[in-house]
Amino acid sequence: MAVEIAIISGKGGTGKTTIAAAFTAISHNLVTADCDVDAPDLHILLQPETKKTAEFQSSKVALINPETCTECGLCEEKCRFEAIHPPRVNAISCEGCGVCAYICPEKAIEMKPRTSGFLYESMTRFGPMSHAKLLPGEGNSGKLVTEVRRQAQELARSNDQDITLIDGSPGIGCPVIATVSGIKLGVIVTEPTLSGIHDMERVMTLLERFRVHTMVLVNKCDLNSENTQRIEQICAKNGVEFLGKIPFDSIMTESMVAAKTLPEFDPNHMITHSLKSMWDKITEFVSSE
Ligand code: SF4
Ligand code: SF4
Repeated sequence: MAVEIAIISGKGGTGKTTIAAAFTAISHNLVTADCDVDAPDLHILLQPETKKTAEFQSSKVALINPETCTECGLCEEKCRFEAIHPPRVNAISCEGCGVCAYICPEKAIEMKPRTSGFLYESMTRFGPMSHAKLLPGEGNSGKLVTEVRRQAQELARSNDQDITLIDGSPGIGCPVIATVSGIKLGVIVTEPTLSGIHDMERVMTLLERFRVHTMVLVNKCDLNSENTQRIEQICAKNGVEFLGKIPFDSIMTESMVAAKTLPEFDPNHMITHSLKSMWDKITEFVSSE
């Protein structure tokens, strides 16, 4: 099985995906998995060519059979979501709870599976990629994350790759829990702001609970040197490895505008060299395990 490394952040907007894309470009020898299924954006930088698309069905929607429905109105009365108006169902409002099908005296309602999203198997200029998209309003993001990881492991096996690099979602909710359970290493990308520190500590606790080895990287470290120092102290206090820091530099934005990873955009830039050293530390840890 390939070793799974997740890049997570706790807080959104810290540069997690940019860093994940840069590591993908540096390594050239891994499977990339975008587990931010609610708002995936790694594909913008990696521009994958989709090889396979599979429907992800995780919820159901009520369907009335007009031939057996007597329009007694019981289902409309009991539906808490005001989604059913016999003989019609508002598929957007229907939460798929199944109450209507359970109480219908004529057994005129069937619960039909519906498409909640899509799972993609793709190829980027750096190698295979597993990613997905949850449709608006759909739940079960954790289940779709699990599918992305499963597919990434299959791709790693068939392509003889040792590492799956995961771009996780922000926060500490269901998709993040599904991302970090059972992984080898979690790299937290944070920023030196109060919310960045707060959310880093929350995700640090989560990784500790799941017994995941943790490293911390501070992006835009020069925006507040005191806070960067505080992050280093928090890491030391909690026995978490401080991976390194990256200063703010408009080249990050310039590379994104060019739809390139930083190592492609400027292979000799100081930040590219920093990221290479950090990736070396990551792979050293992985191979020492
Ligand atoms: S409860 Fe059944 S029979 Fe009554 S209106 Fe609803 S679908 Fe029709
Ligand atoms: S499945 Fe639940 S939400 Fe959907 S129409 Fe029936 S009672 Fe309403």
